[in-house]
Amino acid sequence: MNLRGDPHSPVADDTSEELGGGVLVLLELALIDHEADQVHRSLDTLHELMVAAQSKLESIETMRHSVLERLPHGLAARHASLRRSKQYPYICAAVAGRCTGCDTGIPTALQRALVEGRLDACPTCQRLLFDHAMDR
Ligand SMILES: [Zn+2]
Repeated sequence: MNLRGDPHSPVADDTSEELGGGVLVLLELALIDHEADQVHRSLDTLHELMVAAQSKLESIETMRHSVLERLPHGLAARHASLRRSKQYPYICAAVAGRCTGCDTGIPTALQRALVEGRLDACPTCQRLLFDHAMDR
C-alpha cells in the first residue's frame, strides 16, 4: 500500500521542516492528551466514589428512618435540635458525676435529675446526658 501522496498519512510528502514542526506539535499534544487522560481517569474515579457514597447514604437514610420511627414522640423536637448541632455523639452517659462527652463535672442537682431518669443537656457541651445506669 502506497501512503505517499495521502495528506493524512504519517509518511506523507512533507518537507523535513514541516515534519520537524509536526514533531514539536505532536510532543505538545502528547503532553496535553496525557494530562487529559489523567483528568478523565480522576473523573471516572470520582464518579465511582460518588455513586458508592450515594448508595451508602440511601442505605443509611433507610436505616435512620426505621430507627427514627422507634423514637418516643416527646423526644422528636429534642432529637432534631441535637442533630442540627452535629456534635457527635450528641447523647452521652454521665459517669461518676462527669459528662463523658466533654469530661467536665456535672452539677449535683443535674446528677440527681439524671439518676431519677431525666434526660438533660450538659451545661458545658450541650450534649444530652443520661445516667450511665440507664445504658444497661
Ligand atoms: Zn458535656
